[in-house]
Amino acid sequence: MNAEIIAVGSELLTPQRLDTNSLFLTDQLNALGVEVVTKYVVGDDRDLLADTVRRAMARSRIVILSGGLGPTEDDVTRDAVALALDRKMVFHSEIADQLEQRFRQAGRKMAEVNRRQAFIIEGAEILPNDRGTAPGQWIDDSDVSIMLLPGPPHELKAMFTRQCLPRLERVVPQQVIRTLVFRVAGMAESDLDQTISPVYKKYNNPVTTILAGEGDIQVHLRARCSNEADAAALLAEVAGPIELLLGDRIYSRNGEPLEAIVGELLQKHHATLSVAESVTGGLLAQRITSVPGSSNYFLGGFITYSRKMKADLLGVSEDILAQHGAISKETAEAMAIGARRRTGSTFALSITGEAGPDPSENVPVGTMFVGLADASGTQVVHRQFFGDRPRIRVFATQMALDLLRKKCGLVGV
Ligand code: ATP
Ligand code: MG
Repeated sequence: MNAEIIAVGSELLTPQRLDTNSLFLTDQLNALGVEVVTKYVVGDDRDLLADTVRRAMARSRIVILSGGLGPTEDDVTRDAVALALDRKMVFHSEIADQLEQRFRQAGRKMAEVNRRQAFIIEGAEILPNDRGTAPGQWIDDSDVSIMLLPGPPHELKAMFTRQCLPRLERVVPQQVIRTLVFRVAGMAESDLDQTISPVYKKYNNPVTTILAGEGDIQVHLRARCSNEADAAALLAEVAGPIELLLGDRIYSRNGEPLEAIVGELLQKHHATLSVAESVTGGLLAQRITSVPGSSNYFLGGFITYSRKMKADLLGVSEDILAQHGAISKETAEAMAIGARRRTGSTFALSITGEAGPDPSENVPVGTMFVGLADASGTQVVHRQFFGDRPRIRVFATQMALDLLRKKCGLVGV
């Protein structure tokens, strides 16, 4: 079954406000097995909104509106839905009385405009609002269920969970949506798509979505079935070949970020880690320590931005710095060795590079060297990233964590 969500409010069309209600609603609907096929953001314009409601009703069995139920002139949702359904509005004096009482209890006198909120579309069920003033409404119109919910998120959430969900469970056929998420590192989005599209293109169900972030790609498989067992079987049928194709480039199957995966690996084998960062200025350590319990394996790190600090704190020799430059394979290597020596950690990661926007030291923007030292020696990986400064810096940390993940796998750590 399909649903459409209409977020109402001119403020949602400005750069200052984002429609988050639809994210909550989509999550709730998906859990019921309902797919959200279209979302709209519409300003406070009655005719435009009525038109949008008609469109949504023509295609989907569930239409949810959020916002525009307040008392002021610009709250047009009630009027627009009445217009779209060609139904009258009915004044409910008991709602007006309740509103008046609420204001009185708060020691205030109700302004006349608030009476607008007591208008209910003919035939609608009233959804009381215990967190605010505007009641919601539920309307069944031929085979479409329409919900009018208040805009403030805490009001909408309470009303939807307590009053709409029980009603929806009666309308929605038994169906489940199950999702599987692979997270992949060390691959460009286009390469990944080329690799796995021959598998997923054969299926409409599950739906496959590729979401690319900085140095990290997520592959989402969403199966819709009438029961749990069918959904699991369908996911396995598509996920199996994808896993074979991607191999160890998949680092997580449960949505966990790379820093958590690396942490688990280190902890499992009682190994410790330290870092030496130049261009990322602590970003790598920040990611590592964002994982609860990271003190079990993370010893600490060095932010050595200047040449002097690289020499003083990590013991990178003046020779290396003079001969190869601070952004070089040799410096990355010496930084990792220095961090490991000074902390006594099992592993040490180092990052040196140029995040831009201006090139320096004769290296192009996006040049990154990541070093990894352990008892067996040191390896350095050189990569050239594209993008702006924040993106390049995150890429570099991802590359460092992935290098360690692979190393842990190889040495059986
Ligand atoms: P009120 O009685 O508060 O006026 P309302 O139903 O008329 O309720 P709106 O006026 O549309 O709701 O929105 C009230 C506030 O709720 C907005 O200022 C905004 O902060 C928040 N809000 C509205 N719509 C959304 C949305 N789709 N996502 C997130 N927040 C929203
Ligand atoms: Mg309002």
